[in-house]
Amino acid sequence: MERKELLYTGKAKKMYATDQENVLWAEYLNQATALNGVKKDTIEGKGKLNNQITGRIFEYLAEKGIASHYLQELSETEQSVKRVNMFPLEVVVRNVSAGSFAKRFGMEEGVDLPFPVLEFYYKDDALNDPFINDAHVQVLGAATDAEVAEIKQQALKINAALIEMFKGIGIRLIDFKIEFGKTAEGEIILADEISPDTCRLWDIETNEHLDKDIYRRDLGDLIPVYVEVLDRLNKM
Ligand code: 5GP
Repeated sequence: MERKELLYTGKAKKMYATDQENVLWAEYLNQATALNGVKKDTIEGKGKLNNQITGRIFEYLAEKGIASHYLQELSETEQSVKRVNMFPLEVVVRNVSAGSFAKRFGMEEGVDLPFPVLEFYYKDDALNDPFINDAHVQVLGAATDAEVAEIKQQALKINAALIEMFKGIGIRLIDFKIEFGKTAEGEIILADEISPDTCRLWDIETNEHLDKDIYRRDLGDLIPVYVEVLDRLNKM
């Protein structure tokens, strides 16, 4: 397969066309951002880790019958994915209070929620990705009622599979953000990435952060922590 023109440069990835119409080439970058791009750094080795971690997780989900855009690893920092039309939505699933949820509701972090809480955010950097409800999703034309129902169902299934997977490697899945897209055939599938950049992962024993909060909150060096997550996934 041949890499063709650059289609899009995101905060953490570059997406290229390929010589196959429905296949894209994703390159994971060493860039780290937080606070909607206000905090920005280059962290050597991060792209490689997130590419591999996302690959392992999407492979695991495929084994559990959950489809994603992931096709195969192309190099340490690159993977091929199915071309999809992305929904302009960030879908957040929360199992435990943390981050913006804890802040918004004045709650302590680390409290188990009675059931997984699903939230939508509208993907728009200029608006700072606002928190939106189901009606907003439809009014904004981000997804139809039927698509919202399908996305919710898949997100909860993905959550259940990820909780089990992470538990098996000594990690408590606090919350995560996923994105969905629609294939040329009209199938809604999981897309983008699942990595410590997009999940809150706490060590089951120590509650130590194994995710991007290390960077967001200036808690230390992110690389050894991401290496730890990849090592545990590889031993799975
Ligand atoms: P919160 O809303 O608490 O900041 O984030 C909830 C979860 O979604 C966290 O696991 C966080 O990593 C993820 N998340 C939310 N928005 C973004 C985003 O714009 N980029 C990334 N990488 N993760 C996000």
